[in-house]
Amino acid sequence: TLSDRLNGIFTKLRGKGRLTDADIDATAREIRLALLEADVALPVVKAFIASIKERARGAEVHGALNPAQQVIKIVHEELVAVLGGETRRLQFAKQPPTVIMLAGLQGSGKTTLAGKLARWLKAQGHQPLLVAADLQRPNAVNQLQVLGQRAGVEVYAPEPGNGVGDPVRVANDSIDHARRSMRDIVIVDTAGRLGIDAEMMAQAAAIRDAVSPDETIFVIDAMVGQDAVATAEAFRDGVGITGVVLSKLDGDARGGAALSVRYVTGQAILFASTGEKLEDFDVFHPDRMASRILGMGDVMTLIEHAEQAFDEDQKQRMAAKVTGGEAFTLEDFLEQMTALRRMGPIANILGMMPGMGQVKDQLAELDDSHFDRITAIIRSMTPGERVNPKIINGSRRARIARGSGVTVMDVNQLLNRFAEAQKMMKQMGGMMGLPGRRKATK
Ligand code: GDP
Ligand code: MG
Repeated sequence: TLSDRLNGIFTKLRGKGRLTDADIDATAREIRLALLEADVALPVVKAFIASIKERARGAEVHGALNPAQQVIKIVHEELVAVLGGETRRLQFAKQPPTVIMLAGLQGSGKTTLAGKLARWLKAQGHQPLLVAADLQRPNAVNQLQVLGQRAGVEVYAPEPGNGVGDPVRVANDSIDHARRSMRDIVIVDTAGRLGIDAEMMAQAAAIRDAVSPDETIFVIDAMVGQDAVATAEAFRDGVGITGVVLSKLDGDARGGAALSVRYVTGQAILFASTGEKLEDFDVFHPDRMASRILGMGDVMTLIEHAEQAFDEDQKQRMAAKVTGGEAFTLEDFLEQMTALRRMGPIANILGMMPGMGQVKDQLAELDDSHFDRITAIIRSMTPGERVNPKIINGSRRARIARGSGVTVMDVNQLLNRFAEAQKMMKQMGGMMGLPGRRKATK
């Protein structure tokens, strides 16, 4: 992953105070690879890297972050900005009904999205109407009807048995129907082909002209990778797009399509679809997608928390202690716990770090009373025991338990937890690019 590769760079850049061109180039190379691995289209990667380099060269040196971290921070910020910054909301018509038209290749997830949108809008108090304007495939109307039933939303479809209906007419008539039945939102599902196709595009354009949509949403499968650019261009030119929805983000795609599509269309990504069920659907979050594309969990958020919670001096001291598993003492453990608590709920922080799920679960229960008990136990130890917990044998455990008013089991639990934390700090030290490990001097 990118974080692994960047750790190598972090190591090389340790102790450097300032970003050199070579540092920027080396980091940019890794980021370029990460973007390509995430299936961001090459021209998009090139343009993006160029602007990153420019910004990195002009960057002020920041006290709390090392140079590589600083570049990553810039990259992340730029990615979030390129992905849209703030989440954009749906545009509603001044005069209802608001018309939302869905366009995209076959299998991209339009019909599923229609159902999800209908359910979501209904939950917000709207009265949506679903319109089956995909009359290409025999089963398409039925599929929408099933989804509509599940969402509890009416589906407008051509009468069965009338032969092959005209999707443009169905779409057109549906607007009148919506007005008459007081629906405030009309969601028009359309047909797609497996590839870009002039006839399909003409049909989509004709439906668009018939319903004058307030939003024309381009639905794209996040797994498509490099094809995203050509497809997005075709829909941009053929139908006109006002917004994008990424589907199948529950798959293992890194989501590079998001960046490509956003770049090509210039339109915001409104929602993310993350499964086959109607509830598998969320407003699109640019910051989450940026982290996903970079493959770094929420390392960025962690870096930001670190900047806020540690002053430079404290950071230096921590850095020295944190990285060396053996040098990390119970005294440090306590200080670290205090710092983590200041950063935010411990479980949240740990959850942001890749590969930390296990420790996260273990520490999730570290509430205030636990924390006070831990403090009491550690305060009941001798300085020697705090530096070298290995010497804490049975009789010492009993003494510590008595001294802190807890059971021997509590002491054992703390020591186990400490051993876990030692491992974790080692990992965190590597990931945060902190200086190398130091031996205990006491
Ligand atoms: P359409 O041809 O564009 O209307 O695409 P459909 O809505 O029929 O979706 C095609 C297939 O992808 C169906 O089997 C859906 O259940 C599935 N699908 C749609 N959206 C998602 C998603 O977000 N995640 C997953 N895993 N499957 C999805
Ligand atoms: Mg469909």
